[in-house]
Amino acid sequence: MGHPSVKVRIESLQPTASLLAEQVEAKLKVRYAVVLLVAVCLSMSAIAIWEGWNSRQYHLHDQEVAMSNLAQTLASQAQSTIKQADTLLFTLVDRVEKDGMGQAPYTRIQSLLSAQRSELSQLHGLFIYDENGRWLVNSNGAIVPNANNADREYFIFHRDHTDRGPHIGPSIKSRSTDEWIMTVSRRINHSDGSFAGVALATIYLNHFLALYDSIDLGNNGAINLIADNGTIVVRRPFNEAEVGTSVANGPLFTQFLPGASSGTATFKSVIDGVERVLGFRRVSGYPLIVSAALNKEEVLDGWRQESMNSAIIVSLLLAFLGALGYRLIRVMKQQNHIQSELLGAQEKLIEVNRSLELLALEDALTGLSNRRQFDLFMVAEMGRSRRSQTGLALLMIDVDHFKLFNDLYGHLAGDECLRNISAIIKDNIKRPADLAARYGGEEFAVVLPGTDYVGAFLVAEKIRRAVQLAGIKHTDSAEGTVTVSLGVCAYDPASQATSDDLIGAADKALYVAKASGRNMSVIAN
Ligand code: GH3
Ligand code: MG
Ligand code: MG
Repeated sequence: MGHPSVKVRIESLQPTASLLAEQVEAKLKVRYAVVLLVAVCLSMSAIAIWEGWNSRQYHLHDQEVAMSNLAQTLASQAQSTIKQADTLLFTLVDRVEKDGMGQAPYTRIQSLLSAQRSELSQLHGLFIYDENGRWLVNSNGAIVPNANNADREYFIFHRDHTDRGPHIGPSIKSRSTDEWIMTVSRRINHSDGSFAGVALATIYLNHFLALYDSIDLGNNGAINLIADNGTIVVRRPFNEAEVGTSVANGPLFTQFLPGASSGTATFKSVIDGVERVLGFRRVSGYPLIVSAALNKEEVLDGWRQESMNSAIIVSLLLAFLGALGYRLIRVMKQQNHIQSELLGAQEKLIEVNRSLELLALEDALTGLSNRRQFDLFMVAEMGRSRRSQTGLALLMIDVDHFKLFNDLYGHLAGDECLRNISAIIKDNIKRPADLAARYGGEEFAVVLPGTDYVGAFLVAEKIRRAVQLAGIKHTDSAEGTVTVSLGVCAYDPASQATSDDLIGAADKALYVAKASGRNMSVIAN
C-alpha cells in the first residue's frame, strides 16, 4: 500500500466540488420551481375567486339600482293617480261644507260626481256618507237602499280623527261592484267642526296591477304598494288573501324605512319567504310606500353563468399550467437523477483510479513502495524538511554479489531472497513516517524523515546485521550468507541540495562500502 503522505495526495482525488454544488443547486431549483408553480396556481385561484365575488356584488348592486329607479317611477305613478282622485275629494268636501247637506245640492253634486268619474279611468267611484254612514251621493247614480258604510275602516277613522288630510285605508272589495278597490277619503265637517260625514274616492286596484304586470320582473319579482302602517294595499303577483296583510314586522319597516324615505335592500319577504333585491320609496304627499323587487336567486343566475364560464377558463388554464409545470419539474428531476448517476459514476471512477494509483505506487515483487512512490515521497519529505527545518536521512541498500546468487540458485530463488530482504528492511524501520522502497533490481532505498546521520547509521547497521543474521545461504559470498552494503547520507535543510543530490551522495557512500569489502554501512561525507 501507499505511504501515508502519498495516500493523502491520492485521497485528494474526490468528486469535483463544482459537480456536488451543481447537484445541490439543481435540487434547490426543483424546489423553487415547485414553490413557484404552487404560488402561481394559488394566486390565479385567489384572483378568480376575488373577481367572482366582486362580480356577484356588482350584479346585486346593479339590480338594486334598477329596482330603486323602478320604485321611483312607480311612486310617481301612484302619487299622480291618487292626487287626481284626492283633488276631486278636496273640492267635493269644500263644496258640501259650503252648500250644506240638503237635498238640492246633492242633485248638483250627483251630476258633478258622474262627470268627474268618467274623466278619470282609474276612478271606480266617488261617494259621500253622512255622519251615520248612510250613502248620500255616489258617482254611480243609484243609491243602494239602507246601505250603510259606518263599519268601514275609513269611516271609523275620520269619525275618530279630526285630521283634514287625505286618508288611505286598506284595500277592499266594493259592495256595489264586487271589485278590488283602494280607498282615498277625507272628512267632512259641520260648520262647528263636528263630524258631518266622509267623502270617499275609490280607485281600481287593477289600475295599478295593469301597470305592475306589464313590467318584466322575472319569475318571482314583486311590486308592493304598502300603507304607512305596513298593510299591503296592492301587490304583484296579486293574491286576494294577501291584500291587507301586514309587513310591519318585516325588515323594510323595522330596519330600512325608519332611517330613509328611499333606498335599496336585500332581504327575505315576510309574505312568501323569497329573498329579493329591492328598491323602495315613499310616495310623496301620501302615507304610502312603493317597493319593487327581483328574486335574488334569479339575479344571481346570470352571475352564476358568468362565473361558471370564467371558472372553466381558469380551471383549464390551471390544468394547462399544472401539466406544463409537472412536465418541467419531471424533466428537472430526471436531469438531477442523471446528474447524480454521473456523480456516482465519477465516484466509482475515482475509486478505481485510486486503486490503480495505489497499485502503480507499489512494487509487485516485494510489496514495498516502488521507485515512483519513492520519488514522490522524496520530493514531499524534502519540502517538509526544509519548511520545518528537521533532518532527513536516506539509506541506499544493495545486495552483495547478487548476480552470483542468481547464477548459483536460480532467478526464482533470487526473487525469494529479494522478498526476504524486503521483509527484513520493513521490520527494522519502526516509525510510521519512514518509507522503504525498491529502488531497482537488487537495490533498496529507505527514507527516514526527522533523522540525522547518526540515527540513520544505526538503522543501516541494524538492517545490515539483520540480513546477515537471517543466514540466507550464499556459498559464493565471503560470509557464506547473503549480505548487504549500505550508503548513508543525511539532508541538511539549510542546503540547496535536491533529491538527486541526496541519492547521489548515498550512492557514493554505497560504492565506498562495496569497494571497502561489502557487508558494511558507510556514511557519506
Ligand atoms: P555487487 O556486490 O557489486 O553489488 O555485485 P552484484 O552482482 O550484486 O551486482 P550486479 O549489479 O553486477 O548484479 C545485480 C544482479 O541482480 C543482476 C541481476 O541478475 C540481479 N537482479 C536484479 N533484479 C533482480 C530481480 O528482480 N530478481 C532476481 N532474481 N535478480 C535480480
Ligand atoms: Mg546493484
Ligand atoms: Mg549487488
